[in-house]
Amino acid sequence: MVKNHNLAKSISDASWYELTRQLEYKSKWNGRNYIKIDRFYASSQLCFSCGYKNTNVKDLKVRDWICPFCNTKHDRDINAAKNILAEGLRKVV
Ligand SMILES: [Zn+2]
Repeated sequence: MVKNHNLAKSISDASWYELTRQLEYKSKWNGRNYIKIDRFYASSQLCFSCGYKNTNVKDLKVRDWICPFCNTKHDRDINAAKNILAEGLRKVV
């Protein structure tokens, strides 16, 4: 199935849909807020410290980067997680 690119994409899309559906359902069940952010939000490209957008780190192979503006060193995933949290909190207020 994975060799068929279109089918593999459909499977991964369905899994993502199911994950978000479950998160929304469980959040509601437990009295929590479920906030979606824009799927095109550049969470891994934005420096969490200063907000600089570094388009040179679009490639998923880039796992760590240093902000050319403020020299903060970022782990790609941790930086993205911080940006996603901040964006979600911004939408709540
Ligand atoms: Zn920065």
